[in-house]
Amino acid sequence: MNQIQHIIGGQMTAGYSGQTQSVFNPATGETIAQVVLGEVAEIDAAVTAALAAFEGWSMTSPARRAKVMFGLRDQMNQRRDEIARTISAEHGKTHDDALGEVVRALEVVEYATGIASHLQGDFSREVGPGIDTFAERQPLGVVAGITPFNFPAMVPLWMIPMALACGNTFVLKPSERDPSSANLIFDLFQKAGLPDGVLNVVHGGKLAVDAILDHKDIEAVSFVGSTPIAEYIYTRGCAAGKRVQALGGAKNHMIILPDADLDQAADALMGAGFGSAGERCMAISVAVPIGQETADRLVEKLTPQVAALKIGPSTDSAAEMGPVITAEARDRINGCIAAGEAEGASVLVDGRGLKLQGYENGFWVGGTLLDHVTKEMSVYQTEIFGPVLSVLRAESYVEAVDLINGHEYGNGTAIFTRDGDAARDFAKRIKVGMVGINVPIPVPVATHSFGGWKRSSFGAHGIYGPEAVHFYTRLKTTTARWPTGIRSGAQFTFPSME
Ligand code: NAD
Repeated sequence: MNQIQHIIGGQMTAGYSGQTQSVFNPATGETIAQVVLGEVAEIDAAVTAALAAFEGWSMTSPARRAKVMFGLRDQMNQRRDEIARTISAEHGKTHDDALGEVVRALEVVEYATGIASHLQGDFSREVGPGIDTFAERQPLGVVAGITPFNFPAMVPLWMIPMALACGNTFVLKPSERDPSSANLIFDLFQKAGLPDGVLNVVHGGKLAVDAILDHKDIEAVSFVGSTPIAEYIYTRGCAAGKRVQALGGAKNHMIILPDADLDQAADALMGAGFGSAGERCMAISVAVPIGQETADRLVEKLTPQVAALKIGPSTDSAAEMGPVITAEARDRINGCIAAGEAEGASVLVDGRGLKLQGYENGFWVGGTLLDHVTKEMSVYQTEIFGPVLSVLRAESYVEAVDLINGHEYGNGTAIFTRDGDAARDFAKRIKVGMVGINVPIPVPVATHSFGGWKRSSFGAHGIYGPEAVHFYTRLKTTTARWPTGIRSGAQFTFPSME
């Protein structure tokens, strides 16, 4: 059976722990590979390699580092299909959805190719007699990334290009559930000309993560995953003196005002609720129509569409969504639907118990539509991370805004309306990091940054874009006097430039 190994200092290695874990094809339930699980020794080895590479890489000019990013861009463009197939084989998402993931990752790589201008410093001449000041951003050193299963290529590529372009070296700990994309990313970088040791991949679970958090030579940690783990990473990483950004889970609402184009809103909800089987941190999981009439009309449009969702393996080009990631995820999602039903939600379309001919052992959950959900229900409060759309009927726009602002998560949200005043008020008033106006999944382009509010994100920085340049560098400001011959005698007062 295929064994997925670590990559340390440019070399594949099974590591030292002797531990492995099965990787599944979620469409069939079959074990398709074993991934090795690293612990303290493997993280130590990767950090040693990254430290050794840091001096040379950080002293390489930004323009040269950008050349590697241009090479990576070429590699990704030439191998889009291969990357998408690698993603889908272990994640289960449709081929087109996986291609979309590659395209969004490419945007970040393209932003990183401009690193020479993103790192440009500031200079002030003659701040005092013969004195100039310049400010620059320098890399941190060895940084680490810990990533989730749902975007096995895009999320690592939110981090790595920006961290490396800034001059850092990197240790990636990808999700153990779909680890092959990480090794493919390494291969793309290597073919693009990245020197050995600059990027290292250590597979594993909690033990590898804890080794990262405790390692004295790792300067910063970027994490994307669920909120309980994000909070843990942030707390433990900060306590160890590291810079940490930890992006967590979500419960994203879409408000539908009575004046909205309801066909457009229903289409948007289908894609945003059920694309990738709802396993997206920016998926819309709660529709909030305003007024009973809007709600009735919306539900009438949604119900047949949810029931008619085309579900199948990634190899089926007609499939609109695939399986969920594991049998445990399937059972957990089914449990959430059961809890919603027990708490009084109306199950208009029930995805539990879906069986696909020829794929009887796959991890399937069909599209599910719940109506009359209330804010007290667990199905509303928790992140389900599956193909389940809840309809929570609100009487007014103000009630809907209060609902969203009162939720513990604040990753993404959207409003569908033709009313510019309401949309403008929403964008200003809503306590959520990424807002869509008639755009259901408002993932910012790579020239901006990505990040939620409240318990969807811990730490001060968004990921990718200008925020990444700040996260992956520290500011240094130098004040210099030339020529050196100017003498003003010893000064014992606090120095000023006057
Ligand atoms: P997860 O939190 O289970 O795992 C994320 C990473 O943490 C993995 O690498 C995993 O190995 C590691 N991990 C898991 N348990 C751990 C533990 N007890 N101690 C230390 N490390 C541990 O998340 P997931 O199931 O892989 O991904 C889905 C979650 O990620 C969802 O909650 C989703 O909303 C979130 N997500 C958020 C964003 C965002 O940008 N905010 C993006 C993608 C996914």
